[in-house]
Amino acid sequence: METWPIGVFASVDAGLGVHLDVARDLGVPTVQLHSPHRESRTAERAGEFLKQLEEFGLTITCVFAGFEGESYADIPTVSRTVGLVPAETRAARTAELLEIAAFAKQLGVDAVGVHIGFVPHDSASEDYQAVVATAQKVCDELKAAGQALHLETGQEPADVLLRFLQDVGRDNLFINFDPANMILYGVGEPIAALRTLGQYVRSVHCKDAKWSDQPGETWGTEVPLGEGDVGFRDYLTALREIGYAGPLTIEREIPQEPARQKAEIAGAVELLNTIKAELSAE
Ligand code: MG
Repeated sequence: METWPIGVFASVDAGLGVHLDVARDLGVPTVQLHSPHRESRTAERAGEFLKQLEEFGLTITCVFAGFEGESYADIPTVSRTVGLVPAETRAARTAELLEIAAFAKQLGVDAVGVHIGFVPHDSASEDYQAVVATAQKVCDELKAAGQALHLETGQEPADVLLRFLQDVGRDNLFINFDPANMILYGVGEPIAALRTLGQYVRSVHCKDAKWSDQPGETWGTEVPLGEGDVGFRDYLTALREIGYAGPLTIEREIPQEPARQKAEIAGAVELLNTIKAELSAE
C-alpha cells in the first residue's frame, strides 16, 4: 500500500461515520468501519459488504467496536457509559467485542479498534487491575485469530495510557491515535502525546478541535480539519518521525448534517493531500 493512504471513518447501519457511498464519492481508497448492528454481523452480510467495498474500490483497514448504551453527551457521561471500563457492562461488552472481532475476521480485517473508556488513573485500584485483565483476555483471544487491538486515544493523558499498555503487556495491543480527542477531552498536547505513544501507533484519526476554556471539565469543540488547534503539518511531520506510514483516516462527526459533513471531509482530503505532497517534496 502507498504511504499514508487517505481514509474515512464509515458505517453501514450503526454508529458514526459516513456511509460507504459517500466514501466512494470522496474517492478515498480506505475506510475504518464502525461495527454494524449484531443482526448484520453474519457471514452472509460480511460477503455482501465485501462485494460492495470491492465495487467502490475501498479497503477496510480497521473495524471499530461500539456498544449499546454508550453516550458521548459530555465528559462525565462518557466516563460513565463508554467502553470496557464501566464495571456493570464489562463482561457483556467484552463478549460482544470478541463477536465484533470475529466479524472483522470474516471481513478479512486484522485490526479491531475500541474506545476502552476512561482508564482509572490509580494503577493500584481494583478497577484498574480488572480493566488490565480484561484487555489481556481480549488481546489473547485476538492473538489466536491473528488480530490486534487498537485503543483509541484521548480519554486519558498519554502517560496513563502508556502505563496501561505496559501493564497489559501484550504484543498485539496498539494505539489508534486521535489528536483531536486529546484536545476535546483536555488531556494533553497532541503532538507531544503522539511522540510519547509513537511505538504503539498503528492507526490514526485525522480530526481537528479547539481547546475548551475549562480543559478536562467541558468538551473542546470539534471543527473542520485545518481550522483547529492540532496543526496538521506538525501532525504529519510527527507521524513521519515515528515511522507511521499507515492510513490517514478522516473522522468528522456531524452526522446530523450529511451535506456539510461530506463537503468538509472533501476539504480535509484536499488539505491532507497538499501536506503529503509538501512533505514528500522536502
Ligand atoms: Mg477518533
